[in-house]
Amino acid sequence: MVKHSSRIFLNQTALKGNFNFIRKKVGDNVRISSVVKANAYGHGIGTFVPMAEKCGINHFATASAFEAEEVLDACSQSSSIMIMGLLYNEDMKWAVKNNIEFYTFNLDKLQSALDAALEVGKPAKIHLEVETGANRTGLQADEFGKALSFLKKHQEHLIFEGLCTHFGGAESLSNQFKIDSQHKRYKEFLKQCSAKSVMPKYRHIACSAAALAYKDTLYDMVRIGVAQYGFWPSPDIYYMHLQETGKKKENTLKRIFNWKTDIMDLRSVKAGEFIGYGTAYQATHDMDIAVLPLGYSNGYPRALSNRGHVLIGGKKAPIVGLINMNLFMVDVSHINDVKVGDEVVLIGRQNNNVINISSFTDFTQLLNNEMLSRLPSAIPRKAIK
Ligand SMILES: *Cc1c(COP(=O)(O)O)cnc(C)c1O
Repeated sequence: MVKHSSRIFLNQTALKGNFNFIRKKVGDNVRISSVVKANAYGHGIGTFVPMAEKCGINHFATASAFEAEEVLDACSQSSSIMIMGLLYNEDMKWAVKNNIEFYTFNLDKLQSALDAALEVGKPAKIHLEVETGANRTGLQADEFGKALSFLKKHQEHLIFEGLCTHFGGAESLSNQFKIDSQHKRYKEFLKQCSAKSVMPKYRHIACSAAALAYKDTLYDMVRIGVAQYGFWPSPDIYYMHLQETGKKKENTLKRIFNWKTDIMDLRSVKAGEFIGYGTAYQATHDMDIAVLPLGYSNGYPRALSNRGHVLIGGKKAPIVGLINMNLFMVDVSHINDVKVGDEVVLIGRQNNNVINISSFTDFTQLLNNEMLSRLPSAIPRKAIK
């Protein structure tokens, strides 16, 4: 196989540290579901899932069936998979056959789940998602009674694996009134379960932000996405943690992701020459330029044109000119002994210098999650110690 233009390395030690931190926060009795939608937030499902399993994780959540299929290929037999969103009715039999749990968020889906279970001859493991105020998917209060009766009637074929909802914006303190109201409505649904004595195995509502900041949202399981990859969900949640612990600083959560390439070519450019497309950059003095073999088609944001930088020889090398589809150029005039093939760090550490994802996103207005999840799945990912 030929070499790709860049490489992503995932750090097992940092991941272990992240899970230890999350475990301490949520306690021993709460199951951690590792959210690996969007190709594990760009980290790569195939590489990330076995790494998480090494940290003791045995539950994985995806947004869709096609992601669940990738997890199924990557995970061990004892791990569970849960689809939180899109599962076409025609794929439900596949899910049931493979023991894959899935959300049902309307009465039609519940009926389809029953049909699939009967056809396969095996019970379907379903999570009832309820509408509490985010208004995307979820059973409405007025259809919930029907759903519970349906579950009770068909309990041989439908396993009530979970009762869940998702907060719309637990990251931000200014949304607290909305989170509180969503939680209150969730409790109303729980009461109905008790009243009908149809109880879910797992009650789960917390994402990273809620799990780290709001202890009363933990219940039986938490769905952890962004925090396991080493990012605080937001500054609000970070400062709430500092307040709670009385610390001035907390650096237990660590990015596990490093992105590297190497120098494709070097050239000298005379003062006054333009570099790359158009006239976006004009050399102000005689310069040494390194050409890098990737561009916006490889997930490197075009908005970093003329403003981002990379690390070469442990030093920052500023981007000069526009990010092209498959190339961009950096200034290495101030760096000694630069050679073709030298390592280039796009995100991560080199000697004493670091490029963080947040430094990208400050410029590009991309969310951490957005930038990461757009990294093409074709970039090879590798686990390192
Ligand atoms: C993405 C997602 C999560 C995880 O969110 P983080 O903030 O990344 O922890 C949890 N639950 C649902 C339903 C999600 O879609």
